[in-house]
Amino acid sequence: MSKINPTTTLRQPVDLVAHGLAPASDLAVLEKVTARYAVAVTPDMAALIDPDDPDDPIARQFIPSVEELLSQGSERADPIGDHTHSPVTGIVHRYPDRVLFKLVHVCAVYCRFCFRREMVGPGKATALSQGAYDGAINYIRAHSEIWEVILTGGDPLMLSPRRLAEIMADIAAIDHVRIIRIHTRVPVADPARISREMIAALKVGGATTWVALHANHARELTDGARAACAGIIDAGIPMVSQSVLLRGVNDNAGALEALMRAFVECRIKPYYLHHGDLAPGTAHLRSDIATGQTLMRALRGRYSGLCQPAYMLDIPGGHGKSPIGPSYLERAGSNGGDHFVVEDYQGGRHRYPPA
Ligand code: SF4
Repeated sequence: MSKINPTTTLRQPVDLVAHGLAPASDLAVLEKVTARYAVAVTPDMAALIDPDDPDDPIARQFIPSVEELLSQGSERADPIGDHTHSPVTGIVHRYPDRVLFKLVHVCAVYCRFCFRREMVGPGKATALSQGAYDGAINYIRAHSEIWEVILTGGDPLMLSPRRLAEIMADIAAIDHVRIIRIHTRVPVADPARISREMIAALKVGGATTWVALHANHARELTDGARAACAGIIDAGIPMVSQSVLLRGVNDNAGALEALMRAFVECRIKPYYLHHGDLAPGTAHLRSDIATGQTLMRALRGRYSGLCQPAYMLDIPGGHGKSPIGPSYLERAGSNGGDHFVVEDYQGGRHRYPPA
């Protein structure tokens, strides 16, 4: 296929075909996928795709595939149980000291593995009504145990800087909220949105802002993305990363190493490597836990501790996240274990006293 780099976000299969990002023979089936799940490929992401590589790791993340029409019995529409812990519209209160605040249901790009794919996209829902927004703010105000508010969605940086600044001010005005964390893919998917006004909107008196960047392959950290992140960090806002372990995208030590090193070079601390959630039609992108653990073990001796994310599983049904990386410590000896054995990064095993 020969590719034409688009100037606007591609949302329809016919546009993907016209720009050489999908074969014309797939058009009918891709229209079926698009009728079910939102599609958006920004010019920045489209520019990264090599149409001659059938295994292109960027294409796998954003170009729809017929496999999305196949659901497995273990997959579910709400894989991490948001609904179970939603006391009012827009809020997920799963852990005592923090809430998710789901402001918008749209994203710059739609990831084919999205864990909220049944909830995000233009066809799914719209932004919170004023009444629902007020209800969510009132809920946060009424719960003094809430220390951290996590703005997520959808992607909160799809809001205008003016609206985002208003929301940040509303939240920061609540005395017990000390941290506002923003989960976003915009700095990589559409770095031009990270304008001076947007960065100004992220800063607010009365609370500390953190930004968590979602990226899964080192190629996503383009010069534009790096400049956008540098603008955020230079403004005094710390950043962490979130990635998803994805089959054919980053499920090998070289790809993960390059990604984590790129984050650290951008002053972004690798935070979480998520195991893929059981979202419908995503089995072809989900890796298995044994592979994830093997990769985490392989990477431990390969790069600095600064580059290590925690490998996390969101337990289906809304029970929260648990670290599922390999263990390096076990009890050994008589009487149920009278000492520990600890493993070093090369696989050597060493005895350690119990106290
Ligand atoms: S940016 Fe996040 S919420 Fe939006 S489609 Fe991707 S994974 Fe889903």
